[in-house]
Amino acid sequence: MDLERIHTAVAAYLRDAEPADAARLEFFEGLYGVIDERGKAVTAAGGYAVPAAGELHGMLAAGNPVFSQASVQIDEDAFGKTCADVATFMADHAGLEESAAGALRAYDWARFAERADMAQAGSDPTAFVNEVLANLGSYDVPVDLPANLCAMAVVFSLRAHLEPASEAVLAACEQAAEEGEPVPASIDCPVCGSPAAASWVGNTGDTSGSGRRQYCAQCGAQWHYDRVRCGRCGTRNQGHLHYTNVKGDRAHRLQTCDECGDYERVVFQEDLPSGIPLVMEVEDVAMAPLDAIAQEREA
Ligand SMILES: [Zn+2]
Ligand SMILES: [Zn+2]
Repeated sequence: MDLERIHTAVAAYLRDAEPADAARLEFFEGLYGVIDERGKAVTAAGGYAVPAAGELHGMLAAGNPVFSQASVQIDEDAFGKTCADVATFMADHAGLEESAAGALRAYDWARFAERADMAQAGSDPTAFVNEVLANLGSYDVPVDLPANLCAMAVVFSLRAHLEPASEAVLAACEQAAEEGEPVPASIDCPVCGSPAAASWVGNTGDTSGSGRRQYCAQCGAQWHYDRVRCGRCGTRNQGHLHYTNVKGDRAHRLQTCDECGDYERVVFQEDLPSGIPLVMEVEDVAMAPLDAIAQEREA
């Protein structure tokens, strides 16, 4: 995670932001700071053994997320500490009602991490989060701690523990690509298996100059993707794909798909206001209003 770039992008957005948007951007900037600090502690505690090049290529070619085959060892004490730090930051800065903020602070995150399946967290983080959400009662999550806040604390905490390994995998992939073995264009994250949070179109450094990358908010990975293709179901039927945007903001668009009925948020780099660098951690936050628009369309 590049905090300096995150800070530059947030500062650029803040020059023109409505108060609610400014508050959201500042909150996430701070949250990324907490995650980055915990990520550094995780890195210092011990590295992740990236599979050898041939093995890595085999996993990617077969469409198996790397972590499903070579999982990240997540220390439960360290994870409990990360969850507590993230939950405390949310309680202090998210503008929550006092009951929810108090529940976030009071919940025993160390005990949660003891009970949770850390092996699953390190091999299939999306399944892990879904399992936690489906069984909040068995983790003694109090009723005044809303499920969405609990999920947010867990998802962001996991990022701190997955990102160092994800970065190591991506560095190995880059090396492999230079040697003529590019990462196939998978729909979900080729590293951790989570669905893409968003994608971007712009100067990806591909041979054509303009390309598309999917972005995984769970582990921070970005990977090459087809320009004309649904980011959810993978259809390449151009007639079934549409782009819409809020009037006056062509930088942030919704790609909607008639085949799967789903949508994805896409950043168009060249339409970003001048001075705003493309930083997907910040774009993910800046595009939050598009989710509301997409849900209205579906309703
Ligand atoms: Zn991922
Ligand atoms: Zn689709």
